Amino acid sequence: MERRDFVAAVAAGVARWDPGASPRGQPRRRHTADRPTVGIQVGAVSFVDEGTDKVLDEFRELATINTLFLATFTYGRGIAGRQLRGQPLPDHGAQAYDDDFRGGNFATPHPQYYRETSIVPEKAPEHPGYDVIADVLPAARRRGMRLYCWFEDVFRRDVPGFDRAAEIDLHGASTGLACHRNPNTRNFWLGLAEDYLRSYDVDGLMWGSERQGPLDNALAASHGGGGNGIGCFCPHCLDAAHRAAIDVDRAREGYLALERWATALRAGQRPTDGAFVTFWRLLVKYPELLAWERLWNEGLNDTYRDLYRLAKRVAPDKGIGWHIWHNNSFSPFYRAEQDYAEFARYSDFLKVVMYNNCGGPRLAQYVRNAHATLFADLTPEQVLPPTVSRPTTCCARPVARWPAPARGCASGPVSTSTFPRGRTTRRRSRRTCTRRCGQRSKAAPTACSCRASIRR
Ligand SMILES: [Zn+2]
Repeated sequence: MERRDFVAAVAAGVARWDPGASPRGQPRRRHTADRPTVGIQVGAVSFVDEGTDKVLDEFRELATINTLFLATFTYGRGIAGRQLRGQPLPDHGAQAYDDDFRGGNFATPHPQYYRETSIVPEKAPEHPGYDVIADVLPAARRRGMRLYCWFEDVFRRDVPGFDRAAEIDLHGASTGLACHRNPNTRNFWLGLAEDYLRSYDVDGLMWGSERQGPLDNALAASHGGGGNGIGCFCPHCLDAAHRAAIDVDRAREGYLALERWATALRAGQRPTDGAFVTFWRLLVKYPELLAWERLWNEGLNDTYRDLYRLAKRVAPDKGIGWHIWHNNSFSPFYRAEQDYAEFARYSDFLKVVMYNNCGGPRLAQYVRNAHATLFADLTPEQVLPPTVSRPTTCCARPVARWPAPARGCASGPVSTSTFPRGRTTRRRSRRTCTRRCGQRSKAAPTACSCRASIRR
């Protein structure tokens, strides 16, 4: 399937995976083959605040939701907390912020599944005595809704035992993120998946990791902060590098050089040969840069593969798929590493993240980040075309009839006015009268006040 068709299908609420058929084509219980997936992510706080029946009825009545992606594990507020302070509260639910959010497992962890990991399976303290799956599953069944456990790769440094699973950066410090290759991390995810599949009669699982490799992080090729998280250099990853015949010392040397290059560019220095040429020079000199990026991604892909194998062994009739980070929408570097054809070997479905912020501030921040280093030779506006694969239509109108960028369009291209005017944009439309007076004009008139024609 073409990426564009896939995205269109997901946007229409139709997952690629047909949840109505088993891998052998046999009917799946509770499902109908002709029912497209119309899903929503939802966390425990919504049910606790507003009442389970009320929330599910509104899902069904307002959006014909038939599938719940229930936030069952995360230490992040993005999918399990209330609104961030400083943002307006919604017009429903508790009118309060949850600044002391911690997170963890919002169902009930069963210790027998976590014997092979140092990470302690903590129950989220937000809702004591409340098991979100036990509460929501029967109510969802009564309404014919499917329920998937949605758990994501977000920890806290102070989770007991996490220090023995953490990623190690270029300088030997913990990044605060979990190493995909560390057995404590891998066994935690496998234990959690088995716990959900054996302890509850859910319809399946969805796991997600909104992270990228060291090369992408060094370039800050995302909407986040810049230049952090160059890893992993833990003993498990060093062993994997040795097995793959990657020179660890050369990789470390290359990433240190890349870090110096990026730091200098962000500080406003401009190499004589330009940012792109000097970056490419580093890649040629240190092919270990790309090798380490691949090594990191293979650790992540092994996690997908192991989770898929486990799920099919424990519950072959249930679905397991992946949440794909919205960095996919704007970073060609990240997008290149999300190979849907490869995913098809170990996925029942993909849930590719698309929401309005991807088309606006986050895309703009990605462009600013990329423009600060790799594309420093260009203007921010010039960074956009290779970044965004533009759809053929916007708001059901052909590209030629898109609103002018200055007027904006929620799902169209980002306005150039998104970027503050600075020295990178000042070249635009400045013209000079060279035939008579030599006068310069910003207003791009067709004739100079001396009545001679203007040329660029
Ligand atoms: Zn590692």
